[in-house]
Amino acid sequence: MKVYFVGAGPGDPELLTMKGHRLLSTADVVIYTGSLVPAALLSVCSEETAIFNSAGMTLDEVSSVYRSYKGNEGVFVRLHTGDPSIYGAIQEQIDFLREENIEFEIVPGVSSFQAAAASLEQQLTLAGVSQSVILTRLSGRTKVPESEDLSILGKSKATIVLFLSVDRPELIMEKLIPHYGSSVPVAVVYRVGWPDETIVRGELGELDKLVKDNKITRQALVFIGYVFSGNYEKSKLYNPGFTHGYREGNEKEERISM
Ligand code: SAH
Repeated sequence: MKVYFVGAGPGDPELLTMKGHRLLSTADVVIYTGSLVPAALLSVCSEETAIFNSAGMTLDEVSSVYRSYKGNEGVFVRLHTGDPSIYGAIQEQIDFLREENIEFEIVPGVSSFQAAAASLEQQLTLAGVSQSVILTRLSGRTKVPESEDLSILGKSKATIVLFLSVDRPELIMEKLIPHYGSSVPVAVVYRVGWPDETIVRGELGELDKLVKDNKITRQALVFIGYVFSGNYEKSKLYNPGFTHGYREGNEKEERISM
């Protein structure tokens, strides 16, 4: 039995990788994260696949499922939402599998923030505006280290993507308005890739109202950044005067365009 941690993508079944699809369709056992993995993804599994919903299971319970299949032949898929490297809790499962000498492999997925950026039709890094994207969250049951508090990260003025935090818009405002000002654009993306996907746009100073008016309390990402304001410098990558490995500058560019 080999365990595959598979990133399920944000919800749209077509955003599952081909590798993930192949593994799911041949899986003997699947454990999936109930609340955020769409049932449609599981429809590729065979009738014989044993399917467990991890919502409500403790790590020990998940571990005992792994242990009960240890030594068997076959494919065991542990399906995580988005990409498993982000807020996925795979590290402790990896450590358990290593201790038990159970073979495993990680298959990445499309993270919800990438799918949301696509829905927003927005590049998150723009020349002259921001060249960094900070993926973070507010403290919840899992604490954020003090040195990474939003009020500190905000000093960078980089593009910020907040996971697991849409239920506390006032706190986001309190921590970020001192750095970004109240009129910096924000976008809230609820359940990207699902039939009820909702996008709400506005300014940081009205984030609490935007979220409340639209009754968004969970399963959403909050984007904050000047990249959404539409002013930027054209990318150097496609500038004829910019030389890089695949292009040799003006002269050649001119020849190509003739
Ligand atoms: N590993 C996942 C994140 C899991 S943490 C990923 O890469 O996307 C769960 C949080 O992710 C949610 O609270 C929400 O902030 C975000 N999230 C996950 N799926 C989402 C979706 N389809 N739409 C919007 N936000 C989503």
